Amino acid sequence: MDNEMTLTFLARSENESLARIAVTSFMAQLDPTVEELSECKTIVSEAVSNAIIHGYANNPNGMITVHATRFGAEISVAIKDEGCGIANIEQAREPLYTTKPELERSGMGFTIMESFADFLQIESTLGEGTIITFTK
Ligand code: ATP
Ligand code: MG
Repeated sequence: MDNEMTLTFLARSENESLARIAVTSFMAQLDPTVEELSECKTIVSEAVSNAIIHGYANNPNGMITVHATRFGAEISVAIKDEGCGIANIEQAREPLYTTKPELERSGMGFTIMESFADFLQIESTLGEGTIITFTK
């Protein structure tokens, strides 16, 4: 591993920008294109907002941890919550699937994340939480 950073913050929407800025500035050492940076920002935003809205059901006392590592020219980022977990990961990945349609969610978060990441992994245990790991 060539570099590493960890950021832990409360599950509040105002901290979403903190996570985005930390990851994009960590990425800056790779001299990324504007497009790569913006795709990475979007993945982080989607994963953090999922942790806040779904993982913690908007309870602002939960903690979210973002852990980023660099191996050569590759960045790997893990976004972790200790919230409710995902009952069916295959179903959650499907385009347009959402458990909160009443909140104007489109169910496209995972689809967008998967299209922007080079690799995306969802690990989740009901009642324990969720870790989204992606590489770029
Ligand atoms: P959108 O992202 O378009 O606003 P969405 O958040 O419902 O809508 P996805 O991001 O694709 O859509 O997530 C699909 C579903 O997976 C969610 O509706 C939710 O049920 C579940 N989910 C996603 N992330 C988590 C998480 N961190 N903890 C618990 N459940 C989650
Ligand atoms: Mg979402």
